[in-house]
Amino acid sequence: MLNYHSIGVAPGNTYVLHPDTFVRQMDYLAAHHYTPMTLAEFASVITNKMPSPAHPVLLTFDDGYANNAEVALPILQQHGFPATLYVSTGLVNTPGYLTWPQIKQLSAAGWDIASHTVTHPHLPMLSKKAQREEILAARTQIEQELGKSANTFAYPYGEFNRTTLSILRKAKFRYAFTTLEGWASSDQPPLKLHRIVVDSQKPFEDWVQQVTEATTS
Ligand SMILES: [Zn+2]
Repeated sequence: MLNYHSIGVAPGNTYVLHPDTFVRQMDYLAAHHYTPMTLAEFASVITNKMPSPAHPVLLTFDDGYANNAEVALPILQQHGFPATLYVSTGLVNTPGYLTWPQIKQLSAAGWDIASHTVTHPHLPMLSKKAQREEILAARTQIEQELGKSANTFAYPYGEFNRTTLSILRKAKFRYAFTTLEGWASSDQPPLKLHRIVVDSQKPFEDWVQQVTEATTS
């Protein structure tokens, strides 16, 4: 599972990947027969209900940057790759972030849209009530806007505590993604799945090494 944030030009920013590098990474995945999956396909693979395709990969985008629709979507469409957006609903319609029409466009293009809270807080610093509000209000709004279930989650900053886990369990979230380094697998608890956070400052060869190590382990 690869985790992206912003695809744009901002030298020195770890979370902003240059579009040319993103093109190169997607070309690499296509050339080496990786299979980007929808969340439903991911769920089938991870529960072993479906045989795993060649080099399965889930492409996730966190926060909800406008360039996910303006830059990343056309690049992914050239390869027919689906992706998953973990959006912080309180950032929607603010400068630099996606609008609801853009999110609907991503959804129509085959992206899965799910919750990354409302305001992107450090969840462990919040009360149980505040955590619940952040997690459930975002999910409810996404489900109302798109008319589709949004029962997976990505932790802002990768941070969670026992309260977070209990809220997600009670609300029947199926999967939650951390920023623990590595490939998600059925060996990990479903609410503590690993991802590879793509660091824009690392050389291309390091990214290739991360991806190939993760898929063969
Ligand atoms: Zn985030």
